[in-house]
Amino acid sequence: MMAPTSLRVEDKLYHNRYLVDPGRAHIKVRPHEKPSPNLLALTRVCPAKCYELNDAGQVEITPDGCMECGTCRILCEASGEIEWNYPRGGFGVLFKFG
Ligand code: SF4
Repeated sequence: MMAPTSLRVEDKLYHNRYLVDPGRAHIKVRPHEKPSPNLLALTRVCPAKCYELNDAGQVEITPDGCMECGTCRILCEASGEIEWNYPRGGFGVLFKFG
């Protein structure tokens, strides 16, 4: 009998592919002095790790690997802290193997 194999989330994410739309970020963080708790939380909850703190303590995004899961949209779009759109047609994530 074969031992069950375990697959990490990172292993599954490896199969995704992304077509980046250069110069047209589909998610933007609005300028801020100090991030709110929700905005700060995006540096921990985004599964693609798109959000980071810069040296000035502000939250920045690099949406190239975004999986369009909507987590950041739920947390911060209504408050106006981020602007969220889907990528243009033909760009963004390509899911493979679930
Ligand atoms: S939609 Fe999901 S994957 Fe994309 S930046 Fe927001 S939290 Fe990250």
